[in-house]
Amino acid sequence: MKKVVKFGGSSLASAEQFMKVKRIIEADDLRVYVIPSAPGKRFDSDIKVTDLLYECYELAKAGKNFYEPFLAVKDRYNEIIQGLNLNISLSEAFDVIEDKLIHEPERDYTASRGEYLNGLIMSAYLGYEFIDAADVIFFDESGNFDSERTNAVLSQRLEDTPKAVVPGFYGTGHDGNIKTFSRGGSDITGSIVASACRASVYENWTDVSGLLMTDPRIVSNPEVMSSITYRELRELAYMGASVMHEDAIFPVKKAGIPINIRNTNKPDDAGTWIVENTARRSKYTITGIAGRKNFCSIVIAKDLMHSQADFYRKVVQCFEENNIPLEHLPSGIDTMTVIVHESKFIEHEQEVLSRISKIVEPESLEVESGISLIAVVGRSMKSQTGTAAKIFKALADARINVRMIDQGASELNIIVGVLNEDFERAVRSIYHIFVDKGQE
Ligand code: ASP
Repeated sequence: MKKVVKFGGSSLASAEQFMKVKRIIEADDLRVYVIPSAPGKRFDSDIKVTDLLYECYELAKAGKNFYEPFLAVKDRYNEIIQGLNLNISLSEAFDVIEDKLIHEPERDYTASRGEYLNGLIMSAYLGYEFIDAADVIFFDESGNFDSERTNAVLSQRLEDTPKAVVPGFYGTGHDGNIKTFSRGGSDITGSIVASACRASVYENWTDVSGLLMTDPRIVSNPEVMSSITYRELRELAYMGASVMHEDAIFPVKKAGIPINIRNTNKPDDAGTWIVENTARRSKYTITGIAGRKNFCSIVIAKDLMHSQADFYRKVVQCFEENNIPLEHLPSGIDTMTVIVHESKFIEHEQEVLSRISKIVEPESLEVESGISLIAVVGRSMKSQTGTAAKIFKALADARINVRMIDQGASELNIIVGVLNEDFERAVRSIYHIFVDKGQE
């Protein structure tokens, strides 16, 4: 049994944070593979090391002086080394980065050094071996993560290395150069390492005690979810809930490894378990609520449309031709509604509408913008009655007009559409009717 532990930037922002991390690792012998991010913010107005590095690169590429952010990067690491009383120096590593910035600045390489340098410090501090992610994580010719090659090399390497630090966020591209994942990508590295060593759990340590049931900017102090399935998480993440990097789910999900989100600053909190399946009932009927603003609905009405076998296909084709993804298709007998996001639709609006008019000759074609979609997600919904009624009661009590309803056949979620101006109020009223008005 092994545990892979990934620590985010705020967990490694200073020497004090490193000390907490070491205590966490040493509290459990199974925590054998450690994935650090780059140092994050120590306080609100602070700048993450990764952002400083991107700045260095932009300046260097433009032939400008990059020493201000570069010195800030060096200071961050030197402060951590001193604070930990470590007998190491990163000056050679800094020289290599500086040289590269002067002679051949590369974006991904520069950004990746945040994790690389933090990994060197972490490995010295813990006495764990350092495995450079560039030697064990690979991308294919299309720039996608190459799971086959990575797994072959990485699992062998881990088998030979009982305890190691593997920096997050980067690997080697097909051309042999350093390549990074997208922002927040250390989460993905952790998941890849967990899958390669068949870990019993992938612990993702951050600065909150787990995933929150809804957006704390809308509901103050929402409860933490104790467990959530991968499918529920996908639904919520798609609707805008900010969780870990989306691509971090796949490697562990495939390997059947649960993720445990934990808080470095409150290590005794149990956090949230993200699992494939669970017999554990969630505390409430719903697991979480998420939503996004600025959708449009296009309502196409035509008598007897359902007797025309190709009607739907023709309408869908008008959107497909313009590369507009469809979000939902709630329908009536003689009406078909297409919900799309404004950001994808507005630009091609007139082309799409005139195509629809031409191809299916509707009796009416109406467009409404400014719609928000709210997903109420919960695996327990299907075994309980009255969930939809409760949602609509909450909205009716708050005098919010529901513009659209869509419940997936899996009964994992109910999606409601409301006007943008009602969005926050709608989320709050749904949350409160499930969470505060008694526990199920
Ligand atoms: N340091 C990188 C970023 O800021 C990657 C990560 O933290 O996961 O995006």
